[in-house]
Amino acid sequence: MPWDLIGNEQAVAALRRALETGAVAHAYLFAGPVQAGKATLALKLAQALNCRGGSVTAGAVTYEGAHEPCGECDQCRRIAAGLHPDVQTVTIQTAEDDAQRRDISVDQVREVERAVALNPFEGRSRVIIIDPAHALSREAQNAFLKTLEEPPPRVVFILVTDSESALLPTIRSRCRRLELRPLPAAAVREALLARGLGQEQAELLARLARGRIGWALEMAADPAALERRAETLRAARSLPSLSMAERMALAERLAAGFRRDRRALLDTLGEWQGWWRDVLIVQSGAEEAAGNADLLPELREDASAYARPPVVAFVQALASLRRYLTENVQPRLALEALLLETPSAPAPAR
Ligand SMILES: [Zn+2]
Repeated sequence: MPWDLIGNEQAVAALRRALETGAVAHAYLFAGPVQAGKATLALKLAQALNCRGGSVTAGAVTYEGAHEPCGECDQCRRIAAGLHPDVQTVTIQTAEDDAQRRDISVDQVREVERAVALNPFEGRSRVIIIDPAHALSREAQNAFLKTLEEPPPRVVFILVTDSESALLPTIRSRCRRLELRPLPAAAVREALLARGLGQEQAELLARLARGRIGWALEMAADPAALERRAETLRAARSLPSLSMAERMALAERLAAGFRRDRRALLDTLGEWQGWWRDVLIVQSGAEEAAGNADLLPELREDASAYARPPVVAFVQALASLRRYLTENVQPRLALEALLLETPSAPAPAR
């Protein structure tokens, strides 16, 4: 099974059909939630377009590749390792001197334009993956639009995004859209079992993953990951009891971290949001729907310690902060504002 992608059979089937019939689009938009497999699928498509495995020689003619990523030929291997000269991922560059950068600049798009004007160096197709595509600045999108309007031959663009609405409609309309969806928990569990995880751990990770197969596989591969999650959730629970000074210091520390690693902070805020949403779920008597199923005693404790309205407000504040952080805001100010909005700490038990 050369595509070897867990779930999202429809998206894979659409790509296979396109490859078999020679109807591959000039540009694709892979849309779907974080860690649903979009970047993995983009690399698979790049492999399928350039794979030399399964070539058949008949007389003097060699029919190359079976339009499937074999995963084993030289082309496939180098694409997977990020070492193929014709397959390039364009992403946010965080340079030392420009640590505040949070977009893909028009200069980066110009560089791509220069590269795609040349024929592929050694593969059949040049593949440009833009990930995350919603990070393209407005100016960069306008420049890129011109390339999409007159696509160079033998180039396939793959735009990867979890925020389609941040892309110009004119860009979206020029891409063939494939949507990747979160997996059902049962499919995540099967995948983890197939990778040799024990029943109990597979069950737990499948539940915690909320359909994010990439997240589940990362957790399964990294023994320290569950401990980091536990730490993040302990932090989520301790927020209401922080002093004002501690809140300001935490906001500063998180903002500094955000400049180095945006994803990490967004993940942390996502875990916090998941915790406090679970508190609401337990408050409404629907325990079995809680995401952090392994921590029910702690959830029950918090559910009875906090009034509902401030928890609702805090969950909403977390959700909007995560949205704001993907746009242009001052992370420190926004984090300070968030940390002033935690529910109030319960009175100490007497
Ligand atoms: Zn191959």
